[in-house]
Amino acid sequence: MKTKLKNDIYKKSRGGYSRLLEISCEKCKTVICLYQKDGPGILKRMYLDRISDSKKYTGLENSAIKNIPNLECLICNQILGVPIVYKKEDRPAYRLFVGAVSKKIISQK
Ligand SMILES: [Zn+2]
Repeated sequence: MKTKLKNDIYKKSRGGYSRLLEISCEKCKTVICLYQKDGPGILKRMYLDRISDSKKYTGLENSAIKNIPNLECLICNQILGVPIVYKKEDRPAYRLFVGAVSKKIISQK
C-alpha cells in the first residue's frame, strides 16, 4: 500500500518535514503500522491521524477516546501504548511505553 505523507498545520507547526516510520513490536518484531512523524525529536506519542497501513489502528482519530483500544501487538499481545488526548492540540494519540516499539525510516520529506 502506498502511503502519502500528509502536509497540514500539524506538520507545518513542527518545522515542515516528516519521516514515514515503520513501527514494530520490540519484543517479537511484528510490524504494527506505518507512522508519519512530523518534525524533530524522539517518538513519545503517535497521533492517530498519522497512523496508516493497519486494519486495527487506522481511522480511529474521530472516535471517542473511550472507544479507542490500547495499542497492542496483534501477535504477542504486548501493550505498546495507551490512548490519550494531547491537550495542546486536542488531538488523540497513543502514548508509547518506553522501549516498546522499534522504528525504521521508510521515507522522509
Ligand atoms: Zn509482539
